[in-house]
Amino acid sequence: MTAPTPSLPRTTAVIGSGIIGACIAAELVVRGHAVTLIDPADAGGEQAASFGNGAFISPASILPMSFPGMWRKVPGYLTDRSGPVTIRWRDLPGLTPWLWRFLLSGATEARWRRTASSLHALLADAPERHRSLAARIGRADLIRQNGLIYAFRDRAAFQGDALGWQIRRDHDVTMEELGAADLARLVPCLNPRYTFGILVTSGAHCTDPGGYVGTLAGWAAANGARHVPAAATGFDARDGRVTAVRTTLGPVPCDAAVIAAGIHSGPLVYLTGDRVPMTAERGYHVEVTNPAVAPAIPVMPQDGKMANTLTAGGLRAAGQVELGAADAPPDWRRADILLDHLLRCYPGLGPRAGLTVRRWQGNRPSTPDGLPVISPASGMAGVFHAFGHGHIGLAAGPKTGALIADLVEGTPPAIDMRPYAVSRFRTKAGR
Ligand SMILES: Cc1cc2nc3c(=O)[nH]c(=O)nc-3n(C[C@H](O)[C@H](O)[C@H](O)COP(=O)(O)OP(=O)(O)OC[C@H]3O[C@@H](n4cnc5c(N)ncnc54)[C@H](O)[C@@H]3O)c2cc1C
Repeated sequence: MTAPTPSLPRTTAVIGSGIIGACIAAELVVRGHAVTLIDPADAGGEQAASFGNGAFISPASILPMSFPGMWRKVPGYLTDRSGPVTIRWRDLPGLTPWLWRFLLSGATEARWRRTASSLHALLADAPERHRSLAARIGRADLIRQNGLIYAFRDRAAFQGDALGWQIRRDHDVTMEELGAADLARLVPCLNPRYTFGILVTSGAHCTDPGGYVGTLAGWAAANGARHVPAAATGFDARDGRVTAVRTTLGPVPCDAAVIAAGIHSGPLVYLTGDRVPMTAERGYHVEVTNPAVAPAIPVMPQDGKMANTLTAGGLRAAGQVELGAADAPPDWRRADILLDHLLRCYPGLGPRAGLTVRRWQGNRPSTPDGLPVISPASGMAGVFHAFGHGHIGLAAGPKTGALIADLVEGTPPAIDMRPYAVSRFRTKAGR
């Protein structure tokens, strides 16, 4: 048996109980740490991006949003209100510096590939990690590994994305090509206008994303973690090392603290000496609670760029990227686009009038280079960053939990952490 490391922090405060904070808390509990989970809201509640995502746990999600030549599409994003990506005009001035870095980050194939490699390191074993985590908390049913289908109108549409799929192959993502007959067999309810598909055979999905996060946090609490139902507002430090997280309910003493507050991480990060450009990639979902048909394997139709997944709440269509302020009111026309697309994809759903539909809007916490920040803070010892997971936060949760636990323990993680270091952005002192 390994003797306990004397320098282990006695208590780690985890700020935020979305999928990232919940996975970190669970991992720390498993490793024998005392944990305090700080969040004013319910773990996995509707306020969190983790509640409403597409539920995909895909080793193929390694391509960042910014791609070579994307800048040519920006005028369309500003004018076409019906596409999968849009920019809110009134937020454009505030968004411009982020947008500029975002476009540059994917401007060449070499950069695209580099980011893909860094995302691959986080996602390659994501389905297996989720399966063992769900089994550990006694809810193996929350993760199902029966593949993920990316559906195209025809082979020509697939070939239009050939480079992206080649990059995935180069990273050993396991996949099979599907013809029209295969698609009809695997997803009989899918509109036959889709005649080509890719089955990512190792892909998995979560059957209840919000419920999963709540169960994880509940499991951590049942195994010793304390929950403080407050918002974190700052830190106390002695000799440059964190001693407490300040909250709306008073200070929470700790020896280490992890910032995992999703889109709301920025102000806390600033207090630790770092400044990370993050923006909200606002997303939406619609959930048909009484679907007459639903795919047994989740589908992402490539013309609509939305995840169609049967969850505990019904048939969910999640997607849309609306670049804009996190606190702007939802533009439910974006959800209507998803619903229209869903009805076209699955004719068996019948007319809209007969459906009960729930709508949701949430914020992907997104850095301009498409990579999360998983890193010690620059200016306060004992504080760690775990945010900015953009489109892949559900999938990357357990790996992020393991990496952060390594950092908290002072153990060098098994992967190269430089791509996720906060130092890739300028610090406050250096701005
Ligand atoms: C439409 C859509 C579809 C998506 N589809 C997928 C997908 O299919 N697969 C995938 O892997 N990812 C997907 N994502 C991305 C994924 O959902 C996010 O990356 C992930 O949920 C981020 O998790 P998080 O824990 O960082 O943040 P959140 O889930 O937003 O949680 C942050 C938590 O911090 C708390 N908090 C905020 N401020 C404070 C404070 N001051 N003090 C304490 N607590 C605070 C909040 O209450 C919240 O509970 C999708 C996202 C969207 C919007």
